[in-house]
Amino acid sequence: MQVTTRVNYGQSVDISGLAGAVSLAGSGRGVWAVEGGNWQMAAGLINISDVELHLHEEIDSISYLGAYYELNSTKGNAYSCEVTVVATPLDESSIQFSPPVSVPARQLQHTHATFVRGLVNPVYFGVKAASEIPELVATIEDPRLPFTSISILKCYNETDMTYKVFSRQAMTDALLDSIFSVRKETVRINWGAYPHYKAPEKFAPFILDGKHLYYVNAFENAASTMETSAVAAENIARLILSRFFGKDSSCPSDTKRTSCSSAEASRSDA
Ligand SMILES: Cc1cc2nc3c(=O)[nH]c(=O)nc-3n(C[C@H](O)[C@H](O)[C@H](O)COP(=O)(O)OP(=O)(O)OC[C@H]3O[C@@H](n4cnc5c(N)ncnc54)[C@H](O)[C@@H]3O)c2cc1C
Repeated sequence: MQVTTRVNYGQSVDISGLAGAVSLAGSGRGVWAVEGGNWQMAAGLINISDVELHLHEEIDSISYLGAYYELNSTKGNAYSCEVTVVATPLDESSIQFSPPVSVPARQLQHTHATFVRGLVNPVYFGVKAASEIPELVATIEDPRLPFTSISILKCYNETDMTYKVFSRQAMTDALLDSIFSVRKETVRINWGAYPHYKAPEKFAPFILDGKHLYYVNAFENAASTMETSAVAAENIARLILSRFFGKDSSCPSDTKRTSCSSAEASRSDA
């Protein structure tokens, strides 16, 4: 169990039962990924939607100005939106809200993903050959263990692989040089990955201001997955249909009014 909560959420079993159950689900059979990358799901949804996508442009403030919200971006653009959906965690975000919004304090669990092309060092793992090391090495809670998991992402040949290392702290070059006997290329990403779970969880509201400012990522206090985020997003869409358009949320909308998301840039998953 400890291994699954560490691999899925970078945390010990000291998390809520639901997040623990989701970790278990993710370790069993029946999990899937889109061939070529899960990013294609987001790209596909955007392609079939009637939306204008602004990449590489961050929203730095959201102000309620009576009948609409004004979203100001780092590129100096201002967008007027009758409905605004925040679809990124606010915990480490610098978006300024006017009037201010109140969300319970929540720490994010940082997961350092380090991608290494090369070969693992059998000496580090106490075996004779790299081929004896399993495709997934997952660890338990022990302060002496510097990583959560190491798995093979791609195998080019017996001595040339790409590995994915998850850890709570950044992996130093010296540490990587002890774990890998060959290291041709290294890519590091520090993700503010998921909430640092602490049961009983306090949830931020899904409607941030009682009007038409919505927050998808409030749901992540229950569990943080692509599927649950999609369900949370659908529920927000239904809320908008019923609260803004005054429609039965089971019917698709045919009305064209402006709505904006503060998370219009796409991200590929680790
Ligand atoms: C290392 C790692 C491994 C994971 N593994 C899995 C897994 O195997 N299975 C699974 O289901 N889930 C996994 N997850 C969780 C999954 O990635 C998240 O649940 C999912 O990405 C949440 O989607 P989202 O759209 O809410 O947020 P995100 O995917 O984080 O998207 C938020 C977007 O908002 C953008 N943004 C941020 N601030 C602004 C701003 N001010 N203005 C404009 N745009 C902004 C960001 O650039 C980003 O594109 C993993 C997460 C991590 C970090």
